[in-house]
Amino acid sequence: ADFGFSKVRLDEKQGLVDDVFHKVAKRYDLMNDVMSGGLHRVWKDILIAKLGLGRHRAFRHLDVAGGTGDVAFRIANAGGPGTHVTVADINTGMLEVGRARAEKMHLRNQVDFVEANAEELPFEDKTFDGYTIAFGIRNVPRRDKALSEAYRVLKRGGRFLCLEFSEVDVPVLDEIYKAYSFTAIPAFGKVITGDGQPYRYLVESIAQFPKPEEFRSMIEAAGFQRAAYQRLTGGVVCIHSGWKL
Ligand code: SAM
Repeated sequence: ADFGFSKVRLDEKQGLVDDVFHKVAKRYDLMNDVMSGGLHRVWKDILIAKLGLGRHRAFRHLDVAGGTGDVAFRIANAGGPGTHVTVADINTGMLEVGRARAEKMHLRNQVDFVEANAEELPFEDKTFDGYTIAFGIRNVPRRDKALSEAYRVLKRGGRFLCLEFSEVDVPVLDEIYKAYSFTAIPAFGKVITGDGQPYRYLVESIAQFPKPEEFRSMIEAAGFQRAAYQRLTGGVVCIHSGWKL
């Protein structure tokens, strides 16, 4: 299926993505639970376990495309008081929801929110011990730039982790998944936010995302070592990782 996203110019893609997340910011967390049947929580926990956080070590983390703070709060809770997380996102609507959530969770001291583009991060070289991007890199028009920026802001020994939708590699499940994503996701989107069209773009961007092996090469091209990936839930999502050594 082709809803036209492939024909959209690179510099227009960001605008479309921004419209989607402005529209859904207030309902984003609910949407995530509904559309993934709660699975996104499990996937995020597996992602965070890979950081190997110790409760008393100082750890400075950057969560890019961090939206409403979901990944950041998990990291702050797992890492304890020595952990500080910066959430960077291009969308002020998502960041506002995140700040309010942080307030409620009493995590304002440990988590801060910065408006930033993944392609051009406003941080100095070698600032962070860890970098995550969950369901975000797919939306970034120039992914190679985002990966180089990830490399630049990490310290030596820093960990890069990316959680993203992938290709389902189990027969039958892949057909079910395709049918689900191309029909049910826009339908949920329409019910919850009043407009299904933005979700069609998002589903299509999943179909167009590079295959795991190809994305692994891109991570290496950005300078990372020991780039690897792990498929979860039959390949619905994939965790990509690398080290800045
Ligand atoms: N990481 C969060 C999570 O897993 O719940 C949010 C993921 S949400 C699907 C994608 C986020 O990417 C949105 O908040 C959007 O604003 C952000 N985003 C899109 N393009 C971006 C860019 N170029 N730089 C930074 N963030 C971007």
